[in-house]
Amino acid sequence: MDKIQEIKGYASSLGLTHTRDDLETIIHEAEKAQSSYVEFIQDVFGGEIKYRQNKAKEKRIKEAGFPYKKYLKDFDLDFCQSITRKQLNQLSELTWIDGIYNLILSGPPGVGKTHLAIALAYHACEEGYKVSYTSMQYLMQVLRTCEVDRRSRAKMNRILKSNLLVVDEVGYLPITSVEGNLFFQLISQLQEQTSIIITTNKGFEEWAEFLDDAALATAILDRLSYRCDRIQMSGKSYRLENRKSFLSKNNMKKAEVSN
Ligand code: ADP
Ligand code: MG
Repeated sequence: MDKIQEIKGYASSLGLTHTRDDLETIIHEAEKAQSSYVEFIQDVFGGEIKYRQNKAKEKRIKEAGFPYKKYLKDFDLDFCQSITRKQLNQLSELTWIDGIYNLILSGPPGVGKTHLAIALAYHACEEGYKVSYTSMQYLMQVLRTCEVDRRSRAKMNRILKSNLLVVDEVGYLPITSVEGNLFFQLISQLQEQTSIIITTNKGFEEWAEFLDDAALATAILDRLSYRCDRIQMSGKSYRLENRKSFLSKNNMKKAEVSN
C-alpha cells in the first residue's frame, strides 16, 4: 500500500480526521516551509486541535437554535443610549455566566433587546459555553409537550445542559396557569446552574397581569432577580428609524427613468 494511504489509515484509526483528509496539503506545506521535525509535529497536532475546536463551536451554534444570527460588533451604541460601552464590554467578557447571573432586557419593540440577547449568546457559543435560545411561546410548547414529543424533549434536554438560556419575548402573549407553573419550575430548576437572559416588553409590575397570578409572578421574579442585571432599554425603535421602503425606492427609480 502507498505510504500516504497507510498514514491516512493510521490517522483514521486514531480519529484524526483533519490529518487524514488534509494529509497531502499538510505534507506539501511542511515541505514548502522546510519545517523542522518539531514544527511539523506541532503543525499536525495543532491543526487537528484547531479543527476540532472549530467543529465543536459550529455544533454549539447549531444546537443553540438561534432564529437568525446577530453580532455584538453590529450593535450600535450611538443609537442605543440605554447601555454604555463599559457595560457592553463587561457583558461581553461573559464572567456573569460563570457567576450564574441573569440578565433582564426590558423595553418597547425595536430597541434591540433580541439583537443584544442573540449577540451575547452567540458570543458565548464562540467562547465555549453551551447555549439555548427559545422564544417564550416555543418554550411553553416545549414545557407542555416534552413528556410526549421527541423534539420538545430534545430541546428540554439541551436547555437543562446549557450554561446560558435565552428566553425571548416574555410577556408578549398571556400564558395559562399551567404554563406559568411549568415556567416557575423550570426557572427554579435552572437556578444555581444556568444563566438566563430574558427579553420582555413588560415592567416587573406587569408580570402579575400576563401570568394572571400575582403570587406566581412574585415567586418567578424573586428567583430571576436574585443574581441579576437589569437593563431598561428605552428610546426609539431601530426598525422605525431605519425603515426601508421598497415602494419609495421603486418610485425613485421610476422618477429617474422618466427624467
Ligand atoms: P426588540 O427585540 O427590542 O423588539 P430587535 O433586537 O429585534 O428589537 O431589533 C429590531 C431590528 O433593529 C433588528 O434588525 C436589530 O438588529 C436592529 N437593531 C436594534 N437596535 C439596534 C442597535 N442598537 N444597533 C444595531 N441594530 C439594532
Ligand atoms: Mg425582540
